[in-house]
Amino acid sequence: VSVARGHTSTALAVALACAAAWRPAAAGDDRGDDRGLDLATRLAARGDLVDLATVAPRVRVALAYSTTDNFLGRDVYGDLDRCYLNRDAARMLSAADRSLEQERPDLRLLVYDCVRPLSVQRSMWSLVVGTPKQPYVGDPTGTSRSMHNYGCAVDLTLANDRGVALDMGTAFDQFDERSQPRRERKLIRSGQLTRAQVANRHLLRRVMKAGGFRPIGTEWWHFACATSRQARKRYRVVD
Ligand SMILES: [Zn+2]
Repeated sequence: VSVARGHTSTALAVALACAAAWRPAAAGDDRGDDRGLDLATRLAARGDLVDLATVAPRVRVALAYSTTDNFLGRDVYGDLDRCYLNRDAARMLSAADRSLEQERPDLRLLVYDCVRPLSVQRSMWSLVVGTPKQPYVGDPTGTSRSMHNYGCAVDLTLANDRGVALDMGTAFDQFDERSQPRRERKLIRSGQLTRAQVANRHLLRRVMKAGGFRPIGTEWWHFACATSRQARKRYRVVD
């Protein structure tokens, strides 16, 4: 992902839904005594998170924030290369995968981001604070949380059997209006998205909904396992 991004109010709204969807947290942050361990080790040791590969081995995982090919241009996940989700979200993504396999056995889900620990959010914040990218990252010192912080959200697309992502009209984390499902009809009419691109998004939404996930109107790649109110009640923030 190496697209130029505008800094419009629309872009801000998009960021608010995903990277910066901050809402009050009912449960306290999870701060164990394992902060010295690397992220991959810490997440693997948590009993409340599931490695997606153990329940949905067909799904391809390519964590965007574990590379420099993301809107930050920085690797903030380090050695983490696996997708961890809470138990509900992992079970739902496995169901979505089965739904896709039934409808389009030639395609795969391709995952870009899963649980995003609060510790990573702090790293991301330190990279963008005071820069034009600040609107795209939530302030980790605030009282509200992204659904990714609960292991309840996943960012993903569809890929062919060679692992090549289908054309969704924009790149993952491209913060502009063309990424917004709520604008798709208008964008087709104005020629900014093709029917084929939107059909690909519809297929992604169909299989994710079949698994029980909730799409949002601002980012075609983002799906949550619950409402923010439900997540606050049911899950702990991962740090
Ligand atoms: Zn997301």
